[in-house]
Amino acid sequence: MDVLTPEQRSHNMRSIRSRGNASTELAVAAELRRHRLSGWRRHMPLPGRPDFYFPTQRLAIFVHGCYWHGCSRCGAGRLPTTNREYWREKILTNRRRDERVRRRLRRAGIGTMVIWEHEVRRGTSWLGRLGRRLSAGRAR
Ligand SMILES: [Zn+2]
Repeated sequence: MDVLTPEQRSHNMRSIRSRGNASTELAVAAELRRHRLSGWRRHMPLPGRPDFYFPTQRLAIFVHGCYWHGCSRCGAGRLPTTNREYWREKILTNRRRDERVRRRLRRAGIGTMVIWEHEVRRGTSWLGRLGRRLSAGRAR
């Protein structure tokens, strides 16, 4: 089933590519479909351009690469040995931006959830977390 015009598709592909996290995002999209979780949209023009958005529950999902977003579980361990300070600063800047985006969305009455790359690699435990957030959103 195809609901996108070619223009929309090429726009989507560009925005996916520019994010450099395409495979993790696509894995998340595939799992959502496989588990028949619907009602989500991609790349809505919201602060921080969330990867997925559930309009009914007003929940924005960010799929974060562990490295670039400084995952506390695996990000720091993967810092390159050269130019360490440079990378550390860059990742810190990303984390600050992520936090600003979360605050902006919260003020707009939109909840946020981060799905980490390592969670997607290891399986589908994030799906349970998402399911709980979605049912909580519906109850509101
Ligand atoms: Zn991680």
